[in-house]
Amino acid sequence: MAEFEFFKVIQGYLDQAAKACDLPKHVALILSQPKNEIIVHFPVRMDNGEVRLFKGYRIQHNNMLGPFKGGIRYHENVTLDDTKALAAMMTWKCALMDIPFGGGKGGVKFNPRELSSGELMRVTRRFTHALGANIGPEYDIPAPDVGTNGQIMAWMMDTYMNTVGHVEKNAQKRVVTGKSIAVGGSNGREKATAQGLIHCVTEWAREKSFPLEGKTAIIQGFGNVGGHTGLLLSKLGVSTIAVGDHSGYLYNPEGFNPHKLMDHVKRTGAIAGYEGGQPVTREEFFAVKADLFAPCALENQVGVDEAKMLQVRLVAEGANGPTTPDGENILLQRGIDILPDVLANAGGVTVSYYEWIQNKRSETWELEEVDARLETAMKRAYHRTRNFAREHGTSMRVAAYGLALQKLSANYKERDIFP
Ligand code: NAD
Repeated sequence: MAEFEFFKVIQGYLDQAAKACDLPKHVALILSQPKNEIIVHFPVRMDNGEVRLFKGYRIQHNNMLGPFKGGIRYHENVTLDDTKALAAMMTWKCALMDIPFGGGKGGVKFNPRELSSGELMRVTRRFTHALGANIGPEYDIPAPDVGTNGQIMAWMMDTYMNTVGHVEKNAQKRVVTGKSIAVGGSNGREKATAQGLIHCVTEWAREKSFPLEGKTAIIQGFGNVGGHTGLLLSKLGVSTIAVGDHSGYLYNPEGFNPHKLMDHVKRTGAIAGYEGGQPVTREEFFAVKADLFAPCALENQVGVDEAKMLQVRLVAEGANGPTTPDGENILLQRGIDILPDVLANAGGVTVSYYEWIQNKRSETWELEEVDARLETAMKRAYHRTRNFAREHGTSMRVAAYGLALQKLSANYKERDIFP
């Protein structure tokens, strides 16, 4: 696969969108780099008694609209530049969704699957401690991403609360979102990213007069976003006929049972070994004829080769950055629509914001209320993005960036540059 420089790719989209919305030069300049880049190294004692040194990042891209906000990734390929790209995307996402947050992202470079639960907890606690006052409920608010989940967020929260000082301790729950419900998480947060994606897909289908009932999908990544996407699609009568993750790819023309497959992944950590499908190669997976493709794993998955192979009508990006610019050009030339990441997976941060408000007000919202708010927010963002694309003759991706930049630009115009 061609070399993929994630941060440069994101800067390329920023340049295109800046032109489309006449962004003042100095705003484009400010947004072209993150505000803060934090790198930490911290030791953790492993179960075998040895001490291992870990490298962690927190990138704070922009906080013009509110506290930095974004996930924490645990993965062996985490790099500074990729984290910068992901942090910038959070700035666009929050601006597009009219959420009063800025953009951030963090990560620790290691493979979490190789660690015991106790080791994972110690890595999380030492990382949180190393970040210290660089995170905070009104300053920078982490959430789950690849390799992290509600349990990891609960450990982050607990560590922060125990180190921040006694008097304020109980007011600090909202230092992270995406927590398990038991410790202050929100109803509907776990499925929120997938739910937001589904709202975009249903709006797209309605506009295209393309009834979803009886249609088929293929999904790459069957973790939080991919698994919930499979479940929610099945509720719409869309059957998932091929899936893939780090362990391989499976095909089942009759459609997978997403509940059973999710249970299998929860038990074993991967789709490998699931009996309800036949193993296929990555190439065979991409060539499966279906109606939708939801990439829900990592960036840089749909390059030129994959874009030529795909036999679908729509690519709905659950993952961040799954399609390369060359891949995108080919998909669009072939008449395949794309629901871009900044829009399509923004449901996660939207419900993270609801969680943060609930914590701040000591409230618990019913699932129906969370779902209804998310639906309104996603549909509004979808239509605004589509309208921008039509008016400015851009792709949906550049339109999503353009709307975000317009919002940020209006703020820079009024507030101007300090001093
Ligand atoms: P997760 O850790 O729950 O799942 C990640 C999935 O990707 C797993 O199924 C894993 O096996 C698969 N994967 C990893 N490496 C792979 C490879 N080389 N090839 C194929 N599959 C591979 O993570 P998640 O939270 O579901 O995040 C998935 C994507 O969605 C990421 O791009 C993330 O940034 C994005 N995202 C997540 C959220 C959220 O709320 N969790 C919100 C917005 C965007």
